[in-house]
Amino acid sequence: MYPAQIGYYKPDSLGDALDFLEGKDAKVLAGGMSIIPMLKLRILRPKYLVDIGDLKELSFIKEGEVTAIGATTRHRDLASHKIPGLELIQETASKVGDVQVRNMGTVGGSLCNADPSADYPAVFTALEARMVLRSRSGVREVDANEFFKGPFSTSLKQDEVLEQIKVRSLKGYYQTYKKIVRRAGDYALVGLALAIKLDSGIVKDVRISFTGVDEKPYRAREAEKALMDSKLDESKISEASNLASRGANPPSDSRGSSSYRREVMRRLLKNTLEGILNAS
Ligand SMILES: Cc1cc2nc3c(=O)[nH]c(=O)nc-3n(C[C@H](O)[C@H](O)[C@H](O)COP(=O)(O)OP(=O)(O)OC[C@H]3O[C@@H](n4cnc5c(N)ncnc54)[C@H](O)[C@@H]3O)c2cc1C
Repeated sequence: MYPAQIGYYKPDSLGDALDFLEGKDAKVLAGGMSIIPMLKLRILRPKYLVDIGDLKELSFIKEGEVTAIGATTRHRDLASHKIPGLELIQETASKVGDVQVRNMGTVGGSLCNADPSADYPAVFTALEARMVLRSRSGVREVDANEFFKGPFSTSLKQDEVLEQIKVRSLKGYYQTYKKIVRRAGDYALVGLALAIKLDSGIVKDVRISFTGVDEKPYRAREAEKALMDSKLDESKISEASNLASRGANPPSDSRGSSSYRREVMRRLLKNTLEGILNAS
């Protein structure tokens, strides 16, 4: 199917894009990997598209104690760039889709799209990132946890653009993103973002966030609580893995039933924590 007729605007700057967006029935176009199929299926029918995909001012990685990542930074740029203290981001980017998708798709597009099976939402939730949202009337910052509202739904207002994502360094943490897929290049059946800090075997901080198991990223708070300030051992790992899988509400669909996803969650967390225990 072809998209309905649509106006196309290519701004020279972010300011220009914000001027155009104000008060119009317009949607932002970044890499086009998710929005173009939705336009073709006529799930979305905006009057205008505002193409920010080539705005250089939105494509950057500024490292520091707090790293800033521009919204139109391509998956391929994150996949080829190790940010010290945030190695998890490189690992995640390299697992998004296939080469074509990584060449075109942007980190901001993925976050704003808020697909419940996408990779970055769970990762940036685990990293407790701050989303910087800009409109003509100003700028505001929203916690990743607050940003995601439900399937394909965020706290972005119609005239706002995600400008950048700010993430505090997690130097000294074990961090990883594990993704279970049926076929190479697929969206996650279940994905796990984990960051954990150990001191002499004791858990000093831990963030556990899943994708594919709820309407938005699922932060396994009960499992985190069970691990905090405890010695990381087999019995704690079992307890935390059971708590994480029991607390979720995974969907059933053609890729897997709810109970299957729950079991995948449990094993994924258990195996990942055991790997860290053996390596520490
Ligand atoms: C074949 C295929 C396989 C894929 N596999 C995976 C996968 O394994 N894992 C995964 O996570 N994703 C996957 N994706 C999705 C991919 O990561 C997309 O790149 C991403 O979801 C959207 O990024 P985009 O830049 O293409 O955004 P677009 O498609 O341009 O936009 C997506 C949505 O976000 C809005 N938007 C974009 N940028 C901004 C901004 N800065 N501010 C405000 N709103 C904005 C748009 O208006 C639109 O609603 C896949 C896609 C395809 C086509």
